[in-house]
Amino acid sequence: MTTETHSKAASAFLQDEERSKWHDDTLWFVRAKRDKAANKLPGWEALRDAAAAIKEHTLSRLDEYLEEFEANAIANGVKVHWANDAAEHNSIIYSILQENNAKRVVKSKSMLTEECALNPYLQSKGVEVVDTDLGEFIVQLRDEHPSHIVLPAIHLKKQDVSDTFHQHLHTEKNNKDEVYLTRAARSFLREKYLTADAAITGVNFAIAETGGIVVCTNEGNADFGANANKVHIACMGFEKLIPKLDHLSVFLRLLARSATGQPITTYSSHFRKPKQGQQMHLVIVNNGRANQLSKPAFRNSLKCIRCAACFNTCPVYRRSGGHSYHTSIAGPIGSILAPNMDMRKNADLPFASTLCGSCTNVCPVKINIHEQLYAWRQVLMKEGYGGAAKTAAMKSMSVVLSNPKLYRVSGSVGRSVMRLAPWSVNNKLNPWYKQRDLPEPPKQSFRDWYLKNKTNE
Ligand code: SF4
Repeated sequence: MTTETHSKAASAFLQDEERSKWHDDTLWFVRAKRDKAANKLPGWEALRDAAAAIKEHTLSRLDEYLEEFEANAIANGVKVHWANDAAEHNSIIYSILQENNAKRVVKSKSMLTEECALNPYLQSKGVEVVDTDLGEFIVQLRDEHPSHIVLPAIHLKKQDVSDTFHQHLHTEKNNKDEVYLTRAARSFLREKYLTADAAITGVNFAIAETGGIVVCTNEGNADFGANANKVHIACMGFEKLIPKLDHLSVFLRLLARSATGQPITTYSSHFRKPKQGQQMHLVIVNNGRANQLSKPAFRNSLKCIRCAACFNTCPVYRRSGGHSYHTSIAGPIGSILAPNMDMRKNADLPFASTLCGSCTNVCPVKINIHEQLYAWRQVLMKEGYGGAAKTAAMKSMSVVLSNPKLYRVSGSVGRSVMRLAPWSVNNKLNPWYKQRDLPEPPKQSFRDWYLKNKTNE
């Protein structure tokens, strides 16, 4: 893996200019909706400050709050499981399913189960898993991964969905009517809900004080799954914790506005204990989070509430598409989380950013996203993941920029080369110039001009 892997995948996405422009425009529309919703709410910045403070406080006492949460959840009748990594998470879920002789599972959107690759694992054991979030359902039928954490099928157009449903659900060929397609998905999924043996959901917030969890959806699919089945398994990364029920209103006001510009998600469902005759399990997962917590420069990325505002605003994400990130969580925050999981495999991702800082500006929990991306670049270059050419170029630049005389001479040589032989840098072998024009080089440097023109007033 080199620092160019993302850019190569992005080039492939950009081949279809019309689609990439549409992707860019669509996400910018969502970003603009977010701005309007945020501006309409008095005290928006105070809410962001409060959310950041609550999350920082929780991370600083995570051990205490996790124990409090576990004790309260157990007292409520919930079975709590701890998983150190993805493999343990998957095998715990499989053993719960086996104990209940469960062969068919409905699953609402959970990025954690994507991160742990739960679907292929369960399928390899003969368990049927159906994703019930509409976007996830579409990408599952296509055997793709979600390209966005809130809008999993945002890379697809109506015609793609029509083709997919025609192939798998036998809908009318080329019928792109949204109501028709949604009804087809609804009737297929309804049967799955009613015949499933167990339901898996994610968790948006886990409340230490009550031992309860909150799941936010716009489709009510988590509620249907969890209420229609005898076994409900909820999976959460341990960073989902908040200390008190009162804190929830801070996050609920921020989450949907930041995600889609809605005042609130259509369903914010509270699950505290199993219904009569039902089992409720909670799987609390580490999978690299403790490692991230131990790194002072990156620990605050665990404040993330997965709203995707940083995706929607990021000029690189919007133009390169989610699949170019080759990780379960794409976008700016994914580019911070992924190298922690596997530095070698994900060394390219912190470079997939202009460092413009727009992600940091919109983040509802005030994560310094662009600064962490920059910090990762420094770590990766030091660890030797920059690629030989880039490392050599950076070392040469460091020598030139730290020596004023050498800098002046290099500037003068560079200006001459650019004037006399522009083709030596502006050619097809140099990817940087593929879509850029070389500016006319000045005859002299600013320093020379200044020395010549300065007056001694
Ligand atoms: S980093 Fe911030 S903006 Fe990005 S998904 Fe997480 S909470 Fe949202």
